[in-house]
Amino acid sequence: SINITSVLEELHILENNEAWSTGQNWGAGTNASSKTIFSPVDGKAIANVLFATRDDFDQVIKTAQSAFESWRLLPAPKRGEIVRQLGEELRVKKKALGALVSYEMGKSLQEGLGEVQEMIDICDFAVGLSRQLYGLTMHSERSRHRMYEQYHPLGLVGIISAFNFPVAVWSWNAALAWVCGDVCIWKPSEKTPLTAIACQKIAAKVLAANGIDEGVSCLIIGDREIGELMANDERVPLISATGSTRMGKAVGAAVGQRLGRSLLELGGNNAIIISEHADLNIALPGVVFGAVGTAGQRCTTTRRLIIHESAYEEFKTKLSAAYAQLRIGDPLDELNHVGPLIDKDAVQQYQNAIAKAKEQGAKILVEGGVLEGDGFESGCYVKPAIFEAENHFEIVQHETFAPILYIMKYKTIEDAIALQNGVPQGLSSSIMTTNLREAEKFLSHAGSDCGIANVNIGTSGAEIGGAFGGEKETGGGRESGSDAWKVYMRRQTNTINYGADLPLAQGIKFDL
Ligand code: NAD
Repeated sequence: SINITSVLEELHILENNEAWSTGQNWGAGTNASSKTIFSPVDGKAIANVLFATRDDFDQVIKTAQSAFESWRLLPAPKRGEIVRQLGEELRVKKKALGALVSYEMGKSLQEGLGEVQEMIDICDFAVGLSRQLYGLTMHSERSRHRMYEQYHPLGLVGIISAFNFPVAVWSWNAALAWVCGDVCIWKPSEKTPLTAIACQKIAAKVLAANGIDEGVSCLIIGDREIGELMANDERVPLISATGSTRMGKAVGAAVGQRLGRSLLELGGNNAIIISEHADLNIALPGVVFGAVGTAGQRCTTTRRLIIHESAYEEFKTKLSAAYAQLRIGDPLDELNHVGPLIDKDAVQQYQNAIAKAKEQGAKILVEGGVLEGDGFESGCYVKPAIFEAENHFEIVQHETFAPILYIMKYKTIEDAIALQNGVPQGLSSSIMTTNLREAEKFLSHAGSDCGIANVNIGTSGAEIGGAFGGEKETGGGRESGSDAWKVYMRRQTNTINYGADLPLAQGIKFDL
């Protein structure tokens, strides 16, 4: 277990016994309300946090706008140097920040530390990127003309994030947006504001040490109303929103209404196909980690298993035996595999889903339930459950953010791919097979329709180097690696005439 008081001190979160964002002291002198944040690990209060008002929001926008004026003029590699220093500071604070992620959100300490490592990795990636914001040159059809394209900073980037990756999602967006010359306004999940304040303190320290306007990194703590304000505000050209599909539909509509740009990272309903050619020694741990890791609260959590009929009974037996060995409890104890859900609402949703699954005809393979008693005082610990179900059941079509796994049978690989694709969401997918034809078919244009498609690894645990995101109700956005940076910039095509006459494009004549 950790000493939370010293973690909060090391991260400089508390001032006057309440958590504050640095810099824009939006709480001061306004009607900001204070809310107590409880840990799902032990149910204890961690700290009181000031929540912003509409006036505070306006103030933050102005601070960001003014910071953008100077930040965009700093050469991209110099902006990269600031992000490099942020990565260094995160290395120093990794242990404390990782512990706070674990305690505030409820994921295992190893996953909390892993999340901070992801932040460090994306900083490294962004530093390299700061020298590689390439445009193209094209050959002009006109003589003595030069044509090329370049990328310019976009302006203010609004980041709305979910509770389950309370810090990494911010860094995926912010590190890239900063080297691209943008400034960021972050509205974290109202369920995990403390880790956000910790990140803001770390970023503010780096900015101050370099004499850079603090408004380059803005934080606004609030619930969905603040998110709605941001989505509707035309001063924020890009909204990057991570969360439920319900939220994404609202944000996408609001941003679309004003013809702004949105990057949506929404819910998943991820499946693994277990073929008759699967290596079950790989498949089993891949499935179990994917289904119960982070207590089923990853966007890439394995929610459906599509198993070949010839492997079905054997895999079912192995799966039940593996679930019987799972240890549920304090995520800060590394002997445990499964920690708590984020709060009691999430527990209620888990229970509702189990009731619906039964109603709709699903058969229990591993029974769920809420744990009580010693060590489970927060009321947020639940047992991972498995149901034998059919893909078309309404509950199977829906993402329940909890450790519930639905398993089903298939006969042909075409059927398996159709089942895998037969949900509204399109985030992550995987096939366990040693058969080359099957693997390639799954990855082909007639295969998985998801943004992520894996062979012989599970659905969760993406690397920062690739573009991350999904199709259909997952929202279509891509963040992190590859060329995801382009969404944070505006593209400009430039044509220069260095000749002494004015030939028109398409051979048009216009004689005067
Ligand atoms: P949520 O949708 O309840 O909240 C996410 C964020 O959106 C919060 O900051 C919230 O305040 C804000 N919000 C909610 N309604 C809003 C609105 N109408 N306008 C503006 N902002 C609004 O999600 P959650 O429970 O925090 O997170 C779990 C969900 O996030 C799951 O569906 C999960 O799959 C998804 N998720 C997706 C990804 C991805 O990359 N695809 C990553 C992490 C989480």
